[in-house]
Amino acid sequence: MDFLSLRLSNVGLSATSSVQNKVIERLNSGKKIIGLSVGEPDFDTPKNIKTAAIKAINEGKTKYTASDGNQRLKEAVIKKFQLENDLCYSTNEVIISSGGKQVIFNALLATINEGDEVAIIAPYWVSYPDITKISGGIPKIIQTKFENGFKVTKEDLEKNLSYKTKWLIINSPSNPTGAVYSKEELLKLSSVLKKFTNVNVLSDEIYEHLIYEKYTLTNIVQVSPELKNRTLIVNGVSKAYAMTGWRIGYGAGNSTLISAMKTIQSQSTSSACSVSQEAAREALTGSQNCIYKNKSIFEQRRNLLLESLSKTNKLKILKPSGAFYLMPLITDLIGRKTKEGVIISSDTTFVTELLNQTGVAVVPGSAFGLDFSFRISYATNETNLREASDLIVNFINSLS
Ligand code: PLP
Repeated sequence: MDFLSLRLSNVGLSATSSVQNKVIERLNSGKKIIGLSVGEPDFDTPKNIKTAAIKAINEGKTKYTASDGNQRLKEAVIKKFQLENDLCYSTNEVIISSGGKQVIFNALLATINEGDEVAIIAPYWVSYPDITKISGGIPKIIQTKFENGFKVTKEDLEKNLSYKTKWLIINSPSNPTGAVYSKEELLKLSSVLKKFTNVNVLSDEIYEHLIYEKYTLTNIVQVSPELKNRTLIVNGVSKAYAMTGWRIGYGAGNSTLISAMKTIQSQSTSSACSVSQEAAREALTGSQNCIYKNKSIFEQRRNLLLESLSKTNKLKILKPSGAFYLMPLITDLIGRKTKEGVIISSDTTFVTELLNQTGVAVVPGSAFGLDFSFRISYATNETNLREASDLIVNFINSLS
């Protein structure tokens, strides 16, 4: 349609939202659903955080803040980086935005010229390619292998970077695979990045606090401090503190980039919500108990799901080290038939038939750049997970 901008011609509604729409349709027609498609913790925001927000409202902290964020929250973010990541930033190197998503949006919009490439490691978070396209860039997808834990190798990285690459996005722990890069793996990647001095790194650490089995996050700046000046760290309170709806994310990088991002933000949302910023400050500086509690619940759920799904040998599953997703491969199911005679020709058919026949909602892997797979979010209670995994296993076993 002439009315819409060309910028949108290649961009769609995120796949997770379109599954959500089908789920809502089913619910409206009175049918049962077990939703394993959404990317947000099912826990409530901790009470101390809500109380801080109410206090902020009562104290009249309801006005615009500085466009790059309220000073006290920026200080809390700086302290967080010092204590948890051993990284030192000053206030002009930090920005507060309306979610990690806006941090990424600001960064790409502020730096990409028509034709610049953004190297994105597949399977990837659905929004990276679309934000790249909206910003006028070209997504350069780097495929990974199940055998390599869905992590990019040094060789594959080197093959895919060029003088056209503006950014490389590293997302560890990863949505959708749960892959977490080790220090050694990051060191190998940084040796490639040192050859390509034109490449900036966007390190998306939004799932930082969801890493299992006593591991903790290592990022590219920690292993290669010389990359600090061309790395933007993206993080936020959405996943760690069950605050998805509060819309607070933050970024840390060199002051020229942050200042350009601030300009973009000041001309779009002006600033993040003042009340949410007060709540986020409490999240970062108050009790951190919810992080430990939620992480151990997620780890139990991950183990439960892995065990239940192992009742079928037709799925190939990698044990995720972090986040709250699982990405089984369904290559063995392609070409099989449902009882109703529908041939499973793709992950989309698999997901649609699974939803129609069992009410279990998951997302097709092709939305994340990996055909013949699907993503399960285990951000739901154990009863739902047990029931859903039994339904998935029975559905798979019923295929002929
Ligand atoms: N990065 C990844 C990998 C995500 O999965 C998400 C949300 O799903 C975000 C960033 C953005 O989160 P928010 O905008 O809520 O901070």
